[in-house]
Formats: sequence, structure tokens, C-alpha cells
Amino acid sequence: AAKTAGKNRYCRFHPDMMTELVQRTDMEAGLQLAIPLGEISVDYQPLVSPRMGQVVQFEALARWDRDGERIQPSVFIPIAERSGLISEIGAAVMTLGLAQLAPWLNEDPSRSLAVNVSGVQLQEPDFAGNVLRFAEASGVGAYQLVLEVTESVFFDADHSLIKQLASLREAGVRVALDDFGTGYSSLGRLQELPVDTVKIDKTFVSMVRTGTERLPILSSMINMAHSLGLTVTAEGIETAVQADFLTARDCDFLQGYFFSHPEPGARLKRALKRADSAIQALKDR
Ligand code: C2E
Ligand code: MG
Ligand code: MG
Ligand code: MG
Repeated sequence: AAKTAGKNRYCRFHPDMMTELVQRTDMEAGLQLAIPLGEISVDYQPLVSPRMGQVVQFEALARWDRDGERIQPSVFIPIAERSGLISEIGAAVMTLGLAQLAPWLNEDPSRSLAVNVSGVQLQEPDFAGNVLRFAEASGVGAYQLVLEVTESVFFDADHSLIKQLASLREAGVRVALDDFGTGYSSLGRLQELPVDTVKIDKTFVSMVRTGTERLPILSSMINMAHSLGLTVTAEGIETAVQADFLTARDCDFLQGYFFSHPEPGARLKRALKRADSAIQALKDR
């Protein structure tokens, strides 16, 4: 292969690579200080049950404001994962989320809080224990917690990871498969995964434009998940047409800008109000 690669076979150190390295190192250094500096916060986005006509869950989404500049999770989460800082950030998001949502959660035991969990966190031997202790300390039931993981977590899942997830689920914690449909595994593999619910990725939801399309893939995903006893959430709902389409196909939970953008803990009431008026608008259609 080296022969056929020809003249340009060696890789030069390009100036861009230096810039990238410096940027990443700088990000990592900044991220290290983000928690002590109080730069990490959490926004919450509601999930709506069309059947119940109300908000039943909030998803916690990490936010980083670095010197007043908002850095996107798509930028800092991968850096946090590579540097190991994700454990600390994940723990901060979970404890903040439980603390800020405890009043709302305690009003009704059927309400829940979802947090995103990276594979790196699941590798920690005390992850499950910590999650249960966080819940206990906040007075929120373990059954009110949902952990969102992506398929990739299961690729190289070792015995310990599977055992931790099993012990969490035994305690009532639910597991959601996030970004469902974007990974590599077949729908058939879903059967083997230790999850309770799937979140259909927004790329599939965005395929619904007029509501008159035949989108067999979406219906198949929902039917398959239901036949396995899983509940289904559609993420990235931006229009009433999409909300109607997925409700008609028996989707259990809907989430997206149509109902509410993610909002800081101090504005939960506003997120709830927005979602309620969107639910009302669907009824009036
Ligand atoms: P995700 O968990 O799949 O979250 C959904 C993302 O879609 C969020 O982006 C949310 O703000 C955005 N979104 C919600 N509704 C809509 C909509 O109607 N249209 C569109 N276009 N987007 C919508 P965000 O907050 O930038 O987060 C991106 C990703 O970063 C998350 O994807 C998740 O994978 C990761 N992430 C965020 N917070 C955490 C965290 O605390 N821990 C870990 N491990 N990952 C996190
Ligand atoms: Mg998520
Ligand atoms: Mg998702
Ligand atoms: Mg996503």
C-alpha cells in the first residue's frame, strides 16, 4: 500500500494541525476550570405525552459559557470525553438537574428527569452507585431518572458496564437509546440492548414535511420498538405537522422546538407554559 501511495506517502505536519492542537489544548484547559468557575449550567427541554396532553419529562442539556461565550455541547462534550472531564461534568449535570427539578418531580411521581450519559462514565466502576446516591440525596425516586445513551456505548460493552446498567434498571432507573437510527446496528439488534425506550433521531423527524408522505421507515421504527415493549420518543419536532404525524403513528413522547427550546432552571415555568400552549394549538387544529 505504501508503494502505491506514491510521492505523497509521508504525512507532513501541516500548520493547521498545530492550530487545531493548540485550540484543543486551550479548550481542555478552559474546561478543566469550567466547573470551579461555575461556567457549567444546565438547560431543560420538556418531553410531551400526546396521550396525556402534558409535559411528563425534562431532558437536562449541559451548557458551557466560557467568559460569556457559549460553547456548543457538540464542541465541548467530545473534548470532555477524551480528557476524562466528562465524569465530573456528567456528575455536575446530574446533581444540578436533580436539585433544580426536585420540586417539579416531587409533585408527581410519574414525572421524570433524563440526563445524557457518555460511555466513558459507564466505564467507571462506581457509576451506578453514584447515580443512586445522587437520587437518594435529592429525595427523587430512582424510577424518576432516565439515562440517555447512544448505541456506541454497547459496541465494546464489557461485563462491568452491562452489570452496572442492570443494577440501575433493577433500582428503577430507565435507559433510553438516544439518536436511534443513526448508528450502525440493525433494528433487529435492538432486541438485545438493555434499554426501556428509544429516541428517534431528529434527522428522521425532519423527513416529515407535509404530513402526507409515506415514511415507512418511521412507522417501522415505532412499530418495531413497540413490539419489543419499548416506548418511543421523537426528538426534533419543529412543526405541528410533524407532531400530528408522529402522534398518529402512535409515538409515545414528543420533544422539540415546537413545544419548547431548552430553558435554564430558572425558566422552567416558561418552558411548561410554551409546551402547554403548543399542546393546545394541536388540539385546536
Ligand atoms: P441529544 O441528547 O440528542 O440532544 C438533542 C439536541 O437537539 C440538543 O442539542 C437540543 O438542544 C437539540 N434540539 C432540541 N429540539 C430541537 C429541535 O426541534 N430542532 C433541532 N434542530 N434541534 C433540537 P444540544 O443541547 O446542543 O446538545 C447536543 C448533544 O450534546 C446532545 O444530543 C448530547 O448528545 C450531548 N450532550 C448535551 N448535554 C450533555 C451532557 O450533559 N452529557 C453528555 N454526555 N452529553 C451531552
Ligand atoms: Mg439526549
Ligand atoms: Mg438525541
Ligand atoms: Mg442528538
